[in-house]
Amino acid sequence: MKQTERTLVLLKPCTIKRNLIGEIISIFEKKGLRVVGLKMMQLTDEVLSEHYSHLAEKPFFQRVKDSMMATPVVAMCLEGVSAIEVVRVITGPTNGRTNCVPGTIRGMYCMSYQENIVHASDSPETAAVELKRFFKDEEIFDFPRELFEVFYANDEF
Ligand code: ADP
Repeated sequence: MKQTERTLVLLKPCTIKRNLIGEIISIFEKKGLRVVGLKMMQLTDEVLSEHYSHLAEKPFFQRVKDSMMATPVVAMCLEGVSAIEVVRVITGPTNGRTNCVPGTIRGMYCMSYQENIVHASDSPETAAVELKRFFKDEEIFDFPRELFEVFYANDEF
């Protein structure tokens, strides 16, 4: 049986500026992922330096951080079976312009390597660290999973 997982998604400032908050959230909801945490927050250079530390040597590091501070972001915790992989697949490759996979969020909604609509955790280890970075424990909710039967076979969750 696959595991029920939780993952972090950030709707980036490009998404907020373009009034796409509802549209992007609804893609994840319609897929069958549950929103179990949701808030708007202003990111800081400090938290972004940690979040994007793997890019620290890149020439565009500061530019990416500035772009992520241009407006508040919407942070979400999504839950579902194999949620981390499912969200990455729906999100698509980093460069939504020239590495555009049709049907993915980045493939459908952006023309940019940087302004690519969402951040999504890329592994179980990263998801755990990133959820702690952006959410307090009490901001993520446990509620009954009976409705999972609508989305999965009964031995899938
Ligand atoms: P992902 O967001 O797909 O996990 P990375 O962790 O490699 O990708 O990069 C974090 C973010 O930094 C990307 O989503 C994108 O906004 C930006 N970025 C990464 N590589 C580039 C690049 N070559 N040019 C411009 N922006 C980039």
